[in-house]
Amino acid sequence: AGPGNVKVVVRVRAFLPRENDRGAECLIEMDPATETTRLLPPPGSDLANSRTQSRKITEEKSFTFDKSFWSHDLEDEHYAHQEEVYNCLGEEFLDHNFEGYHTCIFAYGQTGSGKSYTMMGTPDQPGLIPRTCEDLFERIENNESANVSYSVRVSYFEVYNEHVRDLFQPRTDPPSYLKIRESPAEGPYVKDLTEIQVKNYSEILRYMRMGDNSRTVASTKMNDTSSRSHAVFTIMLKQIHHDYKTDETTERLARIRLVDLAGSERAKATEATGARLREGGNINKSLTTLGRVIAALADPKAARQGGRNRRDVVPFRDSILTWLLKDSLGGNSKTAMIACIAPSDYDETLSTLRYADQAKRIRLQATVNQDHVS
Ligand code: ADP
Ligand code: MG
Repeated sequence: AGPGNVKVVVRVRAFLPRENDRGAECLIEMDPATETTRLLPPPGSDLANSRTQSRKITEEKSFTFDKSFWSHDLEDEHYAHQEEVYNCLGEEFLDHNFEGYHTCIFAYGQTGSGKSYTMMGTPDQPGLIPRTCEDLFERIENNESANVSYSVRVSYFEVYNEHVRDLFQPRTDPPSYLKIRESPAEGPYVKDLTEIQVKNYSEILRYMRMGDNSRTVASTKMNDTSSRSHAVFTIMLKQIHHDYKTDETTERLARIRLVDLAGSERAKATEATGARLREGGNINKSLTTLGRVIAALADPKAARQGGRNRRDVVPFRDSILTWLLKDSLGGNSKTAMIACIAPSDYDETLSTLRYADQAKRIRLQATVNQDHVS
C-alpha cells in the first residue's frame, strides 16, 4: 500500500480447546516472503460443492496484505508474539504520533478471532494498547531536550446499541449515555467524555484496566456485551516545544485511537429475534454502516456516480461509530486495520479478508497537527 493508504495487516490465532476437541483443521496458510494469506476450502467441501451444485462455491482464496502475523502454532519459527505485533505496527504508529500525526488502529473480525487479545492482551501477554502506553512514557521519560514538555490525556468509551458510554464513569441504573457533537475544528466528538491527565505508565495502566473492567463486568451480566460493543481507547499526546532563541512556543497534538470493534458476525441481518433483535439490529447499524463507509471510501468513483461529491456519499453520519471515527477512516489520520481471523472458519474468514482487502484501497490525508501558541 502507498504511504497515504490504510495499512492492513492480518493475524491468525491458535486453536481454542473447543476447536481441538472437534479435530478442526487449519484453513489458513501464510507466506512470510510475500505477505500472502491463503484460505483453503474445508476438507470435504469438493463433494459438498458438487452435490449442492455450488450455491456457494468454497474454493481457495488468496490475499496480500501489508503484513501477515502467524500466531497459530507456537512451535513455528514464524510465530508472531504480541511483542512482534507491537514492533511491526505499534511502534511505527507511535513514531507518527511524536511527529504530530493522528493515528488509529482498529481490530476487525468475528467474535473469538483475537481482537481483544491483540489490542488489550492479558497481564502476561500485553497487547498493543498497554505496549503503546509503555513505549509512550518511556519516550517521554527519555527525552533530554529542555525545550520540550508533554501532556498526556486519556479517555475510554464504548458504543453499545448506538449509545455512547463513558468507561471511566461508574455504571448507573438507568444507564447514562453521552451525546455526540461536531465542531468545525475538531470534527465529531463525545460531549462530556471524561478525559484524565496521566503522568506515568502505571497511572495510565490503572485507568485502562478500570475501563476495561467496566466493559467486561457488563459482558458477563448482559449476554456478552463485548461481542456487541465497540471500545475506543484514546490517548491525546501534546508536545509543547519552546524555542529559547526565538522565544516561540509551538504545540503538536496527536490523537492515538485504539479500537476493538464488535464481532463482525454482527453485521449480518439474520440472527436473533425479539429483544435480541433490537440489540443486534442496532449493533448491526454501526457495523453495517462501517462496511458501507469502507466501500464508499475504497471506491470513490463508484460512490460519486450521479454527480454527487464524496462528502455527500460516504454515510459517516448514519451510525454513531462511523460518525465518531470519520477522521480516522477518511480524513486527517494515519490508520491501520488488523484483520483478526480464526483458523478454521471458512465463511467468516473469507468475509473478514474481503473486508480487509477493500480497506487497503482507502486513502487518507494525514497532516502534522502543529500550532504556534505564542
Ligand atoms: P475477540 O476479542 O475477537 O472476541 P479474543 O481476543 O477474546 O477474541 O480471543 C478469543 C480467545 O482466543 C481468547 O481466549 C484469547 O486468549 C485467545 N487468543 C486469541 N488470539 C490469540 C493469540 N494470538 N495467541 C493466543 N491466544 C489467543
Ligand atoms: Mg473481544
